Amino acid sequence: MSARVLVVDDILANVRLLEAKLESEYFEVFTATDGIEALEKIQRIRPDIVLLDVMMPGMDGIEVCRRIKSNPATRHIPVIMVTALDQPRDRVRGLEAGADDFLTKPVNDIALFSRVKSLVRLKMLIDELIARNSVDNNVLLAEEILTPEEASRPGRILFIDDHEHMAARIRRFVEGHHDIDFISDPLKALKAVEDNDYELLMVNLDMENYDGLRLCSQLRSLERNRQVPILIIIDPDDTQRMARAMEMGVNDYLMRPIDRQELLARINTQIRRWRYTCKLRDSVRNSITMAVTDPLTGLYNRRYMETHGEALVDEAANRGKALSMLLLDLDYFKRVNDQYGHFVGDRVLKELASRLKAQVRRLDIVCRVGGEEFVILLPGADVAIAWRVAERIRRAIAEEKFDVGEKPGELLLDLTASIGIAGFESPEDTLEKLYMRADEALYRAKEEGRNRVVIREAA
Ligand code: GH3
Ligand code: MG
Ligand code: MG
Repeated sequence: MSARVLVVDDILANVRLLEAKLESEYFEVFTATDGIEALEKIQRIRPDIVLLDVMMPGMDGIEVCRRIKSNPATRHIPVIMVTALDQPRDRVRGLEAGADDFLTKPVNDIALFSRVKSLVRLKMLIDELIARNSVDNNVLLAEEILTPEEASRPGRILFIDDHEHMAARIRRFVEGHHDIDFISDPLKALKAVEDNDYELLMVNLDMENYDGLRLCSQLRSLERNRQVPILIIIDPDDTQRMARAMEMGVNDYLMRPIDRQELLARINTQIRRWRYTCKLRDSVRNSITMAVTDPLTGLYNRRYMETHGEALVDEAANRGKALSMLLLDLDYFKRVNDQYGHFVGDRVLKELASRLKAQVRRLDIVCRVGGEEFVILLPGADVAIAWRVAERIRRAIAEEKFDVGEKPGELLLDLTASIGIAGFESPEDTLEKLYMRADEALYRAKEEGRNRVVIREAA
């Protein structure tokens, strides 16, 4: 994994040590020896992750972290605090300042690489989501899209452990902050994860009767489990299994004995991050949907027809697959608008859209490419098949009245449509040529009296 790491420590020997370790794993390493230099380099270099010493003269690591996390341009860069052993206060202060994780000195290699890699992976995912989301020049910044209520509302946690007394303790720690379910049977837990929208799964790696690592891997491979964060509880000397767990995609760990403040800070970080990625993912999905959808009918728009249509034409040209296009236009639609107004006209278009969709297969593409002009692409269909589909559509329009009044049954209109068909003919064919031929056929359908289907025969 090639990523840019900024190492910040006031003691040069510490900087060099981390630099050497990270470079041996092919990270690109930058360094700074005080807080001011660190902030300046973060602005300039835009690292993918920052390793930040807590104790530094001048501006300490906690303050540097707070500034990184309060600047909208840098707050999505993950920060790992590096603290002295036996300073649990520092860890909690760091996590409260927004740090994503921490490591204790002397830094253990497994912990270093597993935490750096897992945070860099997440950062890259978020970078990609942000990049995709800026299609409309509408850049979203980390956390700005999480409202304070969304960031702080109690989370839904599942704790899996077959020691009852441990569960009781964890519950006492977490109660009042989050809703926590406890399940002692790992197999029941797997089922519960599928049936509930948990935001965090906590697993005791040292269960009596079940292999905790195995459970983590089963949780990760669950179909419906959308990578919900997993936090494990583990013994401090169990570094081998810890490394295995992190490789499996476990997000974070807590070592025994459990410190309440640290537990809550880690839970909060995981849940906040989870909500953030979910929201970002949804909004990317929405903006993609909006970019290709016609708002009135919910059908695909012209832009989608053009990009997807090109791909289908390429496929037809390269693999000899059939492809047909229907071009449909309502007959005398202007009269509907003139007589009943635009509202009624719009209702006709919506009703038409749902009739069109009902008459085609799922892989056919129905687009509204103009006011009352619709294109339907039929992959794999030659003109003979396309003709049958078009006839079915024509009848579905002509043979049932359009119910388009304020109330059902109040205004019933008889409508018809004309349809032109063109099929993909030769490897030199383009989407544009196909469209022009379908348009010629449509023109003939109108001329010959409307309410009919015309195929543009190959020249
Ligand atoms: P023809 O049989 O020759 O197609 O006759 P027509 O009246 O349908 O003529 P044409 O296709 O040229 O008319 C298009 C009309 O579609 C013009 C406009 O009033 C109407 N129209 C276009 N877009 C919309 C829309 O979004 N909503 C509504 N209500 N009407 C629209
Ligand atoms: Mg028309
Ligand atoms: Mg028209």
